[in-house]
Amino acid sequence: MLPLPLIDTHTHFDVPEFDHDRLVLAKLARQCGVQALVLIGFLAERFDTLVQVQQQINQAAEHPQALLAPGLHPFYIDQHTTEHLLQLEQLLKSQQVVAIGEIGLDTFTKDMKQAKVFARQQKFFSAQLELAHQYNLPVLLHIRRAHAETLNILKKHRFKQGGIAHAFGGGIQEAKAFIQMGFKLGVTGQVTNPNAKRLHQVIETVGADHLVLETDCPDMTPLCCQQSHEHRTRNTPANLPFVLDSLASYLQQEKQALARQIWQNTCDALNLDWSYPHVTAI
Ligand SMILES: [Zn+2]
Repeated sequence: MLPLPLIDTHTHFDVPEFDHDRLVLAKLARQCGVQALVLIGFLAERFDTLVQVQQQINQAAEHPQALLAPGLHPFYIDQHTTEHLLQLEQLLKSQQVVAIGEIGLDTFTKDMKQAKVFARQQKFFSAQLELAHQYNLPVLLHIRRAHAETLNILKKHRFKQGGIAHAFGGGIQEAKAFIQMGFKLGVTGQVTNPNAKRLHQVIETVGADHLVLETDCPDMTPLCCQQSHEHRTRNTPANLPFVLDSLASYLQQEKQALARQIWQNTCDALNLDWSYPHVTAI
């Protein structure tokens, strides 16, 4: 069967782990159907690299189209400064950017939960929502154990640009609330794990209309691609079709139709006016 056209909505393909073979993997991903991938920001000090990697990929002979989504990640909150917000805005002005990401709230660890740290996360999240509003861009959300608080801030801002709740880990009610706010839910290789019951329930309840795919590479390697239990296997954009396969089986849907629906969802979330490509061998 010919590869189905897909878009990887969340990658950290710019990180040094890919420096030695990025273009080989980009070509492989393209051959596997990945027509575009989003390069996600997390630290201002990496913005230049993010742009360079985008150019590196887009200048290669056979490649998925690389799109930019710079932002300041909540997990690295102690490293962000107001100067970095200005650098982000500079990037929004100088580059073609599809979204601001990844931004949001993270209270996964005890440290991240501390009142002072959490208040700072909220401040940077709000500031980036303001930028998204100002530049009319969607946002790519990172949320861990802070779904209610994230929704509150989005509501407070009357945020209308939507985007993607990446690697969605919330429950059914939270999923519905994000969808109501105009967001799609990002599905990673976690879906391939038979023990991810809560995720499977969310997926089956909300259905294909509200989902997009992502690898979140180099993390979240699909179970089938993991080579060992002891060592983490590096995830790559070429593994995205495995996420589609698994999603199709949980939704009990035919893959071709699902890929087409997901393509449309992704274009809606990122304001891309791309029609679904003809399925052809390259
Ligand atoms: Zn990420």
